Amino acid sequence: MKTLRLILGDQLNSKHSWYKDNPENTVYCLFEMRQETDYVTHHIQKVIGFFAAMRDFGQHLKDQGFTVQYLKLDDGKNTQSLTDNLKLLIEEHNITKFEYQLPDEYRLDEQLSTFCNSVDIDTEAFSTEHFYTKRQDLKQFFKGKKQYLMENFYRDMRKKHDILMVAGQPEGGKWNYDKSNRNKWKAEHPIPPYKYFKNDIEDIETLIEKEDIKTIGTLDTKTFSYPINRQQALEQLKYFCEVLLIHFGDYQDAMHTDQVYLFHSRLSFAMNLKLISPKNIVDTVLNYWRKHGEDINISQVEGFIRQILGWREYMRGMYWALMPEYITLNYLENNNNLPDFYWTGNTKMNCLKQSITNSLDNGYAHHIQRLMVTGNFALLAQINPDQVDAWYLGIYVDAVEWVQLPNTRGMSQFSDGGKIATKPYVSSASYIHKMGNYCDSCHYNKKEKLGDKACPFNSLYWNFLDEKRKQLGDNFRMKMMYSLLDKMETKQLSSLKERAQQIIENPDDF
Ligand SMILES: Cc1cc2nc3c(=O)[nH]c(=O)nc-3n(C[C@H](O)[C@H](O)[C@H](O)COP(=O)(O)OP(=O)(O)OC[C@H]3O[C@@H](n4cnc5c(N)ncnc54)[C@H](O)[C@@H]3O)c2cc1C
Ligand code: SF4
Repeated sequence: MKTLRLILGDQLNSKHSWYKDNPENTVYCLFEMRQETDYVTHHIQKVIGFFAAMRDFGQHLKDQGFTVQYLKLDDGKNTQSLTDNLKLLIEEHNITKFEYQLPDEYRLDEQLSTFCNSVDIDTEAFSTEHFYTKRQDLKQFFKGKKQYLMENFYRDMRKKHDILMVAGQPEGGKWNYDKSNRNKWKAEHPIPPYKYFKNDIEDIETLIEKEDIKTIGTLDTKTFSYPINRQQALEQLKYFCEVLLIHFGDYQDAMHTDQVYLFHSRLSFAMNLKLISPKNIVDTVLNYWRKHGEDINISQVEGFIRQILGWREYMRGMYWALMPEYITLNYLENNNNLPDFYWTGNTKMNCLKQSITNSLDNGYAHHIQRLMVTGNFALLAQINPDQVDAWYLGIYVDAVEWVQLPNTRGMSQFSDGGKIATKPYVSSASYIHKMGNYCDSCHYNKKEKLGDKACPFNSLYWNFLDEKRKQLGDNFRMKMMYSLLDKMETKQLSSLKERAQQIIENPDDF
């Protein structure tokens, strides 16, 4: 009996029970493949980050005495296809059993189950032992319910895992401190320097160039700054607890021209590759807070835990509950093309310029930039969700479909008609101004609705409400906005719609 165990690029969990001992006759395999580099155009730092972390993990296993077959992208025998590589190794090593960890992406899950049905050796799938929940838990939780509210799921998770609970009640008396998480950052609390890792990636960069892999974004040093192994992920987490947690919640939604990361953790890349588990993160943050409770308010901690125990697990559950139909939904019938400036940052709209430039430079934007700037504009300009998805899936180092898709198509673009968000996340300039300083140095005037200098978000907003009345008019949470729209003079509305059409038809001129 000889076993082949597959490790996918986002399954780098060194604490998995597969590595508790070193079973005889077992070969572990990792592949760098065109299949994965080419299904969407990725940010250069994303491709580099995945390969660097995979190489580090493969080496870590070898150092511990495991038998590892690591196929680099330019390895002569690499077929560039997952299943062909597996067939090759099965034959080469006379494998009698194939084992894999359940992929988080539907696409890979299908590919591997079809493969297993096609081979005449034993096969077995294992859990990744990463998430708090199983794939189908959320589907069960919401069975028979009309709404899939994250808050209900989150409260259940808090109770189930006894997190921030005292005698069955939420610690501090509140489930949710969201209202204290909405401050604008005005430099009153200096942003600490960021923790960077100097992982040498020169050979991977050269490989990407040599193999002519199409990428987006930039890389301005020969190092990759995100954590690429468990040790570094733990260091990043320690830094977050000691330096950033204290104001995480306060400025969670803030945006600033001089700041890319503010008090955000930058842990999503490490977590999505499974270098570190959500439980590990939540437990560490809670322990740290228990020891430093006099300095750190519960609102910072709850705000952070809600993102991981709540939103992250919820998005994964929704993905598995709603795929494969989910990826085809377009409830608002949006069909415009994504403006070219999404790929260059070349626009006079300062909020978009800043958020897109950050994304191109760092493979990163925080939640509110993704939701209320790039996502907001795409929705108001009625861009086809397929194109919006492709952009989000490519540009962020942490973008893996199970988490990108429900966030983009659901939460941000409302393409599911309200399964994830109860109303579309759209706003005029007022919200963007409330949460940041982008408007202060913008070519456009945030207050004006009409005229050359009027902020494009303002006319787009009213035009969107008017055009989507059929789909949104009955939405209870939109009632107030529709009553304002109804009170608007016909002439004013038609002028706003005219300006919105100019923007929609030629977004790259704005
Ligand atoms: C349109 C859109 C697309 C997004 N695409 C992705 C994606 O491809 N990959 C991804 O990991 N996150 C995605 N998010 C969620 C969120 O923006 C990122 O997780 C976060 O910005 C990562 O930075 P951070 O680690 O500094 O997060 P922090 O602000 O420090 O938050 C801590 C952690 O909470 C988790 N988290 C926070 N919000 C969410 C959320 N909405 N869904 C799932 N997890 C969350 C992340 O794991 C994150 O690392 C998206 C959000 C939007 C609105
Ligand atoms: S004025 Fe409008 S376009 Fe300019 S930064 Fe503000 S919201 Fe963005």
